[in-house]
Formats: sequence, structure tokens, C-alpha cells
Amino acid sequence: MTAPKPRIFSGIQPSGELHIGNYLGAVKQWVALQDQYECFFCIVDLHAITQPFEPAEMPMQIFDMALTLVAAGLDPERCTIFVQSNVPEHSELAWVFNTVTPLGELERMTQYKDKAARQESVLAGLLNYPVLQAADILLYHAVAVPVGEDQVQHVELTREIARKWNSRFGEYFPEPQAIVGKVRRVLGLDGQAKMSKSIGNTIGVLETADEIWEKIRVALTDPARKRRSDPGNPNVCNIFSLHRHFSSEDDVAWAEQGCRSAGIGCIECKRRLAENIVEALRPIRERALALKEQPDYVVEVLRSGAERAHSVAAQTMTEVRRRMGLRRGAELAEAEAE
Ligand code: SF4
Repeated sequence: MTAPKPRIFSGIQPSGELHIGNYLGAVKQWVALQDQYECFFCIVDLHAITQPFEPAEMPMQIFDMALTLVAAGLDPERCTIFVQSNVPEHSELAWVFNTVTPLGELERMTQYKDKAARQESVLAGLLNYPVLQAADILLYHAVAVPVGEDQVQHVELTREIARKWNSRFGEYFPEPQAIVGKVRRVLGLDGQAKMSKSIGNTIGVLETADEIWEKIRVALTDPARKRRSDPGNPNVCNIFSLHRHFSSEDDVAWAEQGCRSAGIGCIECKRRLAENIVEALRPIRERALALKEQPDYVVEVLRSGAERAHSVAAQTMTEVRRRMGLRRGAELAEAEAE
């Protein structure tokens, strides 16, 4: 009998279609991890509602994200894809963990401080966001969590929460490790901030060749390269960093040398990048177009994913409640008889 695979959990916000920052920073790695681990991939709508959102758009954004994840290579036969709010145990365990998490630990989280600084009135959901993340991960006894660099602190807090709960109610939860991918941070087309739909500096993985070209055409390059004859510095140009993600070694060398020697112009360099991105994303786009013709399949992926996730989550919560003396119905009578 083969040993069970170690389990991982990772989540993504339902922002509609994936952009290349999500793809390179998370989903490409998830696709590669499917064979090595038992994977739970979650569309985290309960996290999404900690930021302003439009209820009428949420169902479509969830659906589009699920469709794109499958198109990008997540195989529902080899991993569990589901929507967070479809498994109510996430909220229940988050509340339980709130009761063992010191407020000071939450207040020192970098992401909370960054987001809170930009808001006039800070809601409790933003502060408690990492507690829900801990619940997401530990509900499945995940031993590892593929995350971006900016989430490592939250995985550390998850370990801390697991330790605190275990020390009070007995060893039960593992202390998961973060798996940080090779792609640390994908800058947006503005070359300033991390690629993010809310900033509007993204390229969607399902965009057409024309749409991709229109965005790359006007993207910022090395500001010192004012004329075609000025040599440039590829290391300060985000177009070049995107070449590194999407172009062959030959094309990367061509862009680097051509830029430094002013042998190529920025438009030429951008055209080559746009062609390479379109080519790299072509299989995802083709699969997505086919999936759009079979929406029932995507709905079924999420339904069966939620069923599978729920079967694991329910077991965890039964044990959590038992250890915490939170019995239900007939269990109360059993406890009385014990
Ligand atoms: Fe950037 Fe390419 Fe222009 Fe150099 S040639 S500044 S790498 S776009």
C-alpha cells in the first residue's frame, strides 16, 4: 500500500479571471504540486468580503476564477477545488481560533498594518483575516502552504495559533510550513506596484493578443531611455523582467544585449514580449474557451470539491468541539453518561 501524500492547502481570492501575477506567483506552482501532494485549493470568498465588494458580481467572479484555475492546469481529478463559504466549518474554526489568538499578534501583522493605514475606519474582519487563514489551513491538517512572500508571516502566525490551541486542548493540529515559490513578486505594468486587479496594472491570462499588445505597448520602460539611440538598463525595466518569465533564453539575451547597446528599440522589445506571452498563455486560453461552453462542468467541479472538503472539515470540527466540551444534541447525553 502506498503512503498517503502529505496535504497542502492554498487559497486565492475570487477576483474573476486570473492575471499573470497570480498565475506566475501561485497557480503555476499549484499545478506542479498536484502530483506530489494531496491538494486543497480554495476560492476564498470569505476573505474577499473584508474589502469593498459588489454582491451582484461575486457569483460570476467565483465562477470565472474556478474556470480559469481549471484552464490553467488544476485537475479536479487530482486536487480538490472549492469555495470557502460552501464549507461552513471555516468560519466556525476561525471563531474558535479567535479565542486563543492574542490581539497583539494580529496588530503586528504587516499586511494588516499596510491595509489599515489606508482606511479611515478599520473593520474587525481585516484584523482577523489571518485567523481565518489559520482555520483554512488547519481544518485540513495541511502540513505545507504554498504562498507568496507577503503571506509567510501569516503562516508563522498559523503555527503559533496551532501551538496555542494544542497546548490548551491537546496535540491535534500540525504546524504547517510555508512553501515560497521561485517567483517572488510580479510587478504590474506600471512598474511600481505588485500586479493587482484593484490597481489596474494587470494582464489577464485570458486576454486576446490585441488586448495584451495594447497594454504592453504603453507600459513603462527604463525612463533614462528617451531616444532609440540611448542605451538602456534592462534591470530597471519591468518589460525585461517579464521577458525573464515568458521568453526563451535566446530572447532574454537578445533583449538584454539589444537594450544595453541600443541595438533594439523599446517597441521591438515589447512586440517580442507580447508575442511570447500570447504563445505561453495560448493553451490556457484555448482550454478556458472550451470550458465556457460547458458551465455545468465547472459548477460540478465546485460542488464535488465542496463535498470532499466538507467531509474532511466536518471530521476536524467534530474533534475540535469534543476536545473543547462543545457537544451537540445526543452528544450531550453521552457526555452526561460518561
Ligand atoms: Fe525595457 Fe526593452 Fe526598452 Fe530595454 S529595450 S528599456 S528592456 S523595453
